[in-house]
Amino acid sequence: MTKHINKIKISSKNALTATEYLNGIKSGNRAILSKAITLIESSTPQHQKIAEELIEICLPFSGNSVRIGITGVPGVGKSTFIEALGSYLIEKKDKKVAVLAIDPSSKKSGGSILGDKTRMNNLSVNDSAFIRPSPSSGTLGGVAKATRESIILCEAAGFDTILIETVGVGQSEIEVKSMVDFFLLLMLAGAGDELQGIKRGIMEIADGIFINKADGENIDKAKLAIQEYKNAIHLFPPNSNGWTPKVLSCSAIENKGITAIWEVIESFIHLTTSNGSFSNTRKLQSKFWLEHTIDSSIKALFYANEEVNSKIKELENQVTEGVISPFKAARELITIFKS
Ligand code: GDP
Repeated sequence: MTKHINKIKISSKNALTATEYLNGIKSGNRAILSKAITLIESSTPQHQKIAEELIEICLPFSGNSVRIGITGVPGVGKSTFIEALGSYLIEKKDKKVAVLAIDPSSKKSGGSILGDKTRMNNLSVNDSAFIRPSPSSGTLGGVAKATRESIILCEAAGFDTILIETVGVGQSEIEVKSMVDFFLLLMLAGAGDELQGIKRGIMEIADGIFINKADGENIDKAKLAIQEYKNAIHLFPPNSNGWTPKVLSCSAIENKGITAIWEVIESFIHLTTSNGSFSNTRKLQSKFWLEHTIDSSIKALFYANEEVNSKIKELENQVTEGVISPFKAARELITIFKS
């Protein structure tokens, strides 16, 4: 069967059924895994139908991984860090590492994140690694959904460590936080939070804050930064999972501090699996995605409704002119939608 799947001509249009995709993915065929991710990113109804079927049949083979979100402003060293951590995990821990990305800006920039695979020289040619850039189009919601589904496909393909890269400047962190087990924030020493564009809220959701580029003249500054961030974390409300976020420094380019960072992630997994919060968080995440999807689907249906559309402008004007209240207008539109 494996041989057969590996021989499947993947260039032929829509040639595969969901089961053929699954068999290809499980047999380690990367071309089929890539094609399956393209399928789930597609907005064509017939692709979506097979994609949904595929996700359903992949689910029993998913879940067996550690999902790690990695964020930080452009230039902080995310790609270099992923190259260092990923290579360490493959070489020293015998892991299989998949790297995915969420880049809400990619629509404008044409896919900046992970677009340049040469930044991950080792991982991009390593048989135990799989790198997938962010979809180059779509809304953040769409990209996030595709990434969450890509996690399932990668897990079915046997990847046991999933690294999800995002730019640490906005909404995408919240989406990533809701699909990972450990959320890691990379920072620079001495640059100031303002300068780094990192919102306080992002620091609050981090399970680990790691000061990168702790090398050369930066070493002392990094030590100071560790103390500052430790003090800041102290003031945050405690996590319900019993974990206190850790602050460490590293040099991704010199491969320093990577082992210690992995030990932090391992101790997080140990603590949260033993106190039950690891699986509980995943359950809550699935619930979040159910609600999130219902919310966005109903909203899309509402705005696509013809009767609603023919009335909405008029009511909007009446609301802004103070003729009727926004609540009454909303109720009227919802009545129209429901009828
Ligand atoms: P990203 O935009 O966050 O993905 O950052 P990159 O990984 O592309 O790194 C941005 C720049 O910082 C590159 O020139 C890297 O070589 C450099 N860089 C990354 N990590 C380190 C590090 O640990 N130390 C030093 N000195 N430079 C680094």
